Amino acid sequence: MGKLVMDKKRTLVLGYPIDLTTKEDALKRVTTVQDFMQIVTINPEMIEFAQKNQEFSQILKDADLIIPDGVGVKLALKFRKVNQEQIAGCDFAKDIIKNAALNGEKIALLGAKEDVLSLCAEKLSKEFQQLDIAYKRNGYFSNDDENQIIEEIKQSGAKYLFVALGSPKQEFFIKKCKDYGCKIRAIGVGGSFDVWSGLTQRAPEIWQKLGLEWLYRTIKQPQRFKRIFPTLPKFLFKVIITSSRECEK
Ligand code: UDP
Repeated sequence: MGKLVMDKKRTLVLGYPIDLTTKEDALKRVTTVQDFMQIVTINPEMIEFAQKNQEFSQILKDADLIIPDGVGVKLALKFRKVNQEQIAGCDFAKDIIKNAALNGEKIALLGAKEDVLSLCAEKLSKEFQQLDIAYKRNGYFSNDDENQIIEEIKQSGAKYLFVALGSPKQEFFIKKCKDYGCKIRAIGVGGSFDVWSGLTQRAPEIWQKLGLEWLYRTIKQPQRFKRIFPTLPKFLFKVIITSSRECEK
């Protein structure tokens, strides 16, 4: 197991780095960094896609902070006897927003449908009175608009960018911000705007605690079934195979 740990704060799962951190420490890192930062909340579907897509694979490997989101990655780490709390991207991103509001720092929201985005911005502003949403735009735009959107985000002076385009779109977009020279801390948040708007419900806390949020979401949105199966069992199988090979060496 020792060789799987790159340093005391990072490990690899199927070749992809995962930061071993608490939510508090991860937040500290995000809020103290002065430069561009790409934050990824990694899950088995992302790892599976990275194994087929070189560009995405590189994005994951270059990410500044990769936090384990979802039960698949938690189980993979557990199997390797790495004890790591599961950090839900949705909660972590909300903590960043809270922090930004407390410190009078601007944020930018990009993604989701227009009505979802408006409601999400409204709800966040109510929850965090001092929140300064310097930029917001829905997530339905063409590739040709990307440079202009990035320029607008840059001009807005936002310190944090929340991108809700789903994966891998959001990670590709954030990488583009980096290439453009945006000095922003950016995180892909998937369906979080839908949750923050109140239009989609998170699983009840007991489901979350039991690591069954994925099951709850699949019951509520059966179309997600195709995404999770066979990805999750395949991912865990690969983790088991590669771990036992590494142990044999
Ligand atoms: N979305 C978007 N633009 C697109 C495709 C998706 O803004 O071109 C939004 C979509 O409206 C939803 C979010 O991206 O709000 C994706 O949510 P999903 O549940 O797929 O993400 P997950 O949480 O599973 O990563």
